[in-house]
Amino acid sequence: MSEFQSLQEVQHEVNKCMKCGNCQAVCPVYQETRQEVGEARGKIKLVEALLEGQIAVTEGLADRFLLCTTCGACTQICPCGVRFDKIIMGARAEAVRHKGLGSIKKYAFTALKHPKLFDFGLKTGARFQSLAFKRVSDKGGRARFPIGIDRKKIIPALAKVPLKDQLPEIVHVAKPKLKAAFFVGCMTNYIYPDMGRALVDVLTANNVEVIIPHDQHCCGTPVYANGEVATAIAMAKSNLDIFDRTGADAIVLDCGTCTDSWKHNYVKLLEQDTSGYKEKAERWAAKTYEISDFLVNVIGFTPENLGPVKRRVTYHDPCHVARSLGITKEPRLLLNSIPGLELVEMNDPGRCCGMAGSFSLTFPDLSDKILAHKVKNIAATNVDAVATSCPACRMQLAGGVENASLQHDVVHVVQLLAAAYRAKVQPKDQAAK
Ligand code: SF4
Ligand code: SF4
Repeated sequence: MSEFQSLQEVQHEVNKCMKCGNCQAVCPVYQETRQEVGEARGKIKLVEALLEGQIAVTEGLADRFLLCTTCGACTQICPCGVRFDKIIMGARAEAVRHKGLGSIKKYAFTALKHPKLFDFGLKTGARFQSLAFKRVSDKGGRARFPIGIDRKKIIPALAKVPLKDQLPEIVHVAKPKLKAAFFVGCMTNYIYPDMGRALVDVLTANNVEVIIPHDQHCCGTPVYANGEVATAIAMAKSNLDIFDRTGADAIVLDCGTCTDSWKHNYVKLLEQDTSGYKEKAERWAAKTYEISDFLVNVIGFTPENLGPVKRRVTYHDPCHVARSLGITKEPRLLLNSIPGLELVEMNDPGRCCGMAGSFSLTFPDLSDKILAHKVKNIAATNVDAVATSCPACRMQLAGGVENASLQHDVVHVVQLLAAAYRAKVQPKDQAAK
């Protein structure tokens, strides 16, 4: 049984914690709140009390379990090897089993579970967004939401045409060395199709045929990360069936969080399944790759077809890419292989940017405070672009640099790589689009 099914499953992890407080030093939430409940140790004490029956699940307790970006920094530094990532997911699932979901999340997750409804909602939103959003910059089509959650939050405009509507289901190459299915993810599909097109360009430049199932849908991260396990299981099963039909050799993604779902969390969600999905999840987990991992470690990427991209770039490590997947060298290797590109490391590139999905909506001020450290580190590098490997980080960083009146472009590594392939063919075109 996994932590998603029973809180008892995290008892072993809770027992390992010696309450040393080492996790305090790396916790971005603690560093802003200075509250014990912000750090892992404080939340572990609450889970311990819950397991011992000293406290019950209340809405207040459930809110405290949400006070975490799930960045994984505490798990990485813990001298006792406490897997806080398991504890926090178990605690959130337990909270939902006892208290249910709030009505906004209930409606949002129902929409995610019904892809046609979700698709219709976002396409309608894209048509009418100019009525609700005020454009604050022409750069990247960003817009500011003038009322509601957080007036300072800058979010990008929804794409007029989602990525899946721009591309055929199969992008052929003459002599494919592999067939890769592209799990697009919601943000790439509806907000950043430029990233998805770049990924397809890079794969085809490496003689990889790309299959893009148009009926794929949200991976379910927002659902299980908020403790709603039953819906997440249904979504995982549906995606597994859809990708099973592709006959692909691998699944490739441009998002660390979605990759983490396919590589780790689908297996845990379906651990108890006896109808074949556990095996399907395990099979696909072994064949799922974040794009830089796929290029460097699977298909033997070489830089010979790259043209020059003359930019000074710094790289932000997304938490799920660096800590959940352990991928830090590969994006840097790709960036360093682009002729003319200078990679300048920022201070603490693995520090969480404060996005963390719904965390940034639930705690917008805290999210902005965490982001401010990252923006300061970016500004100190004197670069002209920030590269990352996650659409959610891209959105958070882009909002941060915009609010700080900085001029940086914020792009995915794969966009710079696609620009380099284009530059070889069309030497005048060096921009990452
Ligand atoms: S989670 Fe690890 S680092 Fe944090 S208090 Fe417990 S033992 Fe110490
Ligand atoms: S996962 Fe990150 S935000 Fe959450 S308690 Fe650990 S260090 Fe703090």
